[in-house]
Amino acid sequence: MKPINEKFVNSYYLLKPFIPRMLQIGLRRAFAARKRSVYQDIWPIDPKACKKPEKWQGWPGNKRFALVLTHDVDTFRGHERCERLMRLEERLGFRSSFNFVAGEYKVSPTLRRNLTERGFEVGVHGLFHNRELYKSRENFRKHALQINKYLKEWKSVGFRSPCMYHNLEWMHDLHIAYDASTFDTDPFEPQPDGVGTIFPFHVKGTSDQKGYMELPYTLPQDFTLFILFREKNIDTWKKKIAWIAEHGGMALLNTHPDYMNFGGKIGPEEYRAGYYEEFLKHVEHEYKDEYWSPLPHEMADFWLNKDSGADLSALDAKDAFLGKDAGSWGLPDQEKNIDLENAPVTLCADSQSHI
Ligand SMILES: [Zn+2]
Repeated sequence: MKPINEKFVNSYYLLKPFIPRMLQIGLRRAFAARKRSVYQDIWPIDPKACKKPEKWQGWPGNKRFALVLTHDVDTFRGHERCERLMRLEERLGFRSSFNFVAGEYKVSPTLRRNLTERGFEVGVHGLFHNRELYKSRENFRKHALQINKYLKEWKSVGFRSPCMYHNLEWMHDLHIAYDASTFDTDPFEPQPDGVGTIFPFHVKGTSDQKGYMELPYTLPQDFTLFILFREKNIDTWKKKIAWIAEHGGMALLNTHPDYMNFGGKIGPEEYRAGYYEEFLKHVEHEYKDEYWSPLPHEMADFWLNKDSGADLSALDAKDAFLGKDAGSWGLPDQEKNIDLENAPVTLCADSQSHI
């Protein structure tokens, strides 16, 4: 993405809270619609992203592909809809992870206990749903101390950054088994540098860092399809999962209870939860017995476990998959990787605190 003057970025973020929410969405929709045709060769499918890892020996049980379901709970509104979303998945025989923003709203200990007792997973989605974490290296260190406290208290091993910002080097500060803040391809994100693979990969540690697994999302987010592009069906999800299944990759989906409408009048930033239900039914109907459906922490375990038959921990994200240099991973010059056209609003449901 084009470099952006750092001062301009900072002034934008100062002004942003004063731009009305619907105007922000309108702007982002206009930018995204233009980009969609520009990026049609790499979104929703980036054909290069299907390359298999070295020494790949397949998924457990010889399944054709993997399916991982995750949710980010950006606001208290989303928090209040988790139970309905859990019931929807339970009814259809699925389980998923729920990532909560630890400092943004009160996360109910009863809900967390309920989730784990019923076979779901709980992860941390940052302290606040904004860009604060990535403002500087120092800020990241400071936030990491707090995030690590929540990881420990919640017995969580997974993390996803607010608004999908990512810096894979800095994330070594977190006590995690996996991070899920990246994507194979998504030009509509504020930090749009995709990792270009539909497989997980290991981010190697150093002598004092143990490393962690990176689980990129590979199906477009619900916000992008139903709020930004106002799609009225799940064809894009169907098309992408068919391609992932064909290439034996990992279909990882991130949806938000915040945007899901479970009944009543549909708000301007909502979509029918029925779309998500339809997707799950489609997967079960179309690919019955063809996919392995672990929780994200099970996916990370599998990948790190050499005894699984896949000697994958030796893989290194930068050279084994992508041949990219460190600069393209959102490392020190990360300010310059922000695409403001994608930033008028974020993946969040209220207007004051995001990005
Ligand atoms: Zn979020």
